[in-house]
Amino acid sequence: MLFDRFDLQPDDPLLALIGEVRADPRRHRLDLSVGVYRDEEGQTPVMEAVKAAEAQLVAGQASKAYLGPAGDVQFCARIADLVLGAHSGCQVAGLQSVGGTGALRLAARLLAVNPRPHGGGPATIWLATPTWGNHVPVFEEAGLRIRTFDHTDAMGTALDFAAWLEMAERAEPGDAILLQGCGHNPTGIDFTAQQWATLAMRMADKGLFPLVDLAYQGFGLGLEEDAAGVRTLVERVPEALIAVSCNKTFGLYRDRVGALLMTGTQAAPLAKAMAMAKALARGEYSMPPDHGAAVVRTVLESADLTALWTRELDAMRARLVQTRKAIAVHPLAGDLGLTGLANQKGMFCLLGAGHRVVQKLKDESAIYVAPDGRVNLAGLPLARVDDFIAGLASACR
Ligand code: PMP
Repeated sequence: MLFDRFDLQPDDPLLALIGEVRADPRRHRLDLSVGVYRDEEGQTPVMEAVKAAEAQLVAGQASKAYLGPAGDVQFCARIADLVLGAHSGCQVAGLQSVGGTGALRLAARLLAVNPRPHGGGPATIWLATPTWGNHVPVFEEAGLRIRTFDHTDAMGTALDFAAWLEMAERAEPGDAILLQGCGHNPTGIDFTAQQWATLAMRMADKGLFPLVDLAYQGFGLGLEEDAAGVRTLVERVPEALIAVSCNKTFGLYRDRVGALLMTGTQAAPLAKAMAMAKALARGEYSMPPDHGAAVVRTVLESADLTALWTRELDAMRARLVQTRKAIAVHPLAGDLGLTGLANQKGMFCLLGAGHRVVQKLKDESAIYVAPDGRVNLAGLPLARVDDFIAGLASACR
């Protein structure tokens, strides 16, 4: 019996919480686990700009015939503009992907099918940990060898840039390095502009290959500001891959919208990389789903809808910043190690507390955070900041 020979895999511990929260009868339960933006009422509404674009699409879409493995080419061009700026000096190719995860998966496959230039063995990717819980499964499944180093210091409150530089020393030419573009998941701790420039230089000197994971553009300081690091990087390295997710920024989570961008200095190698990416996509899933990407393209092709979307994204970011500040200035923030939150960015922060505290938060206060102690601040209503802090203080006792 084939089916019976499979090892029973546990559910993804984070996604399993979706069902657990729903089944929790306590009315004051607070879900800060899965990375989804919620408004003050706890809802994740469809954005107005998305609704308007969907209405336009339904009214005007003439065909749903196949588009091909690269998906919606105009969508990719708009995303390239958004990420790299309309006046980027580098050449870019891109294909639509099944969300940011699909872009990372395609990137990993591109790295894995390439023979190592120096010595044998599988292609290597360096991950700064802690990192998003799905990075290791995605890269491992694609056959990459994973090496890790520390993203933050022992307290988990500041970037360990020395560890990044040391990694750049230890890595072999041709090794890939994963960098999160902004709003680091799970720590909220990003590079400064200077650190981006330094890393870019080291990578270019050593022949290291950057893969940027950009899932939260607009959730940190703003659309342009949050892309500044990536732009610095791609201008200084000969080649790079950028895995873009639109699922948080357009609130399209389940529509699975993303793109894999490839940047370079010469057209011919880029065309080869693009052809390989399309061949890999064809073998994996043939073509990406159209709807979400068509929605994003429709928004970005219209000045009015882009302005509406930007206002909505700005409002989400403003609320996140407010939540971060409210926590950081709370009288108990110092004791709980949360004063740094105001300087960090994006949807997440990581509690230094261990598994026992995570469990106590759930059992005593019906507060759900991710198993690794990651808190989705974008799920915390301002009106519940006090409850969150009180629950945490009690769990830490
Ligand atoms: N990268 C990071 C760092 C993320 O946090 C996420 C979403 N949690 C993704 C990529 C991919 O998201 P999606 O596949 O939903 O676009």
